[in-house]
Amino acid sequence: MPAITPYEEGEPRFALTDYEKSAACARERLCSVCGAHLPTDAPVWRVVGAAEAEAIGAALATGAPYRNLAPTWEGPGHRACMLYASMVCPYLARPQARRRVLDRGTARGATGAVVGFADYEYAVTDSQVLFRFLGVVEFLPHDDAATAHLAALEREIAQR
Ligand SMILES: [Zn+2]
Repeated sequence: MPAITPYEEGEPRFALTDYEKSAACARERLCSVCGAHLPTDAPVWRVVGAAEAEAIGAALATGAPYRNLAPTWEGPGHRACMLYASMVCPYLARPQARRRVLDRGTARGATGAVVGFADYEYAVTDSQVLFRFLGVVEFLPHDDAATAHLAALEREIAQR
């Protein structure tokens, strides 16, 4: 159960994030998937959608630094947790209606990516918690996440 999934009348609501849980994740550097602490001075991971995957891929292909200026309400997590989340969350993992060919150089055709960042910034306002991620350290684009990341997740688990 993702750590920031709120409950509504006893039923989890996966598409929403809960303000208090997100604020705790941000302030205490907790993984948004499993709720455990993220190591300090180490990268954090998140799952990005098609548009951001393509933007990151294009920036990396030209050697330009990528800086996500648009804040997101989705918090950071462990590498294994985000690989897993990308594979099991239907709205993240499912390829778009038409299957496209993924060009890994620019991530053109990707439906998303699991991305490692050097660090994150956050802002806790009265009504929301926003994150901004800095410095891409790993870029794993996918068209079908369940297929693309299985081997990496298995290696990650085997190292524990
Ligand atoms: Zn985790």
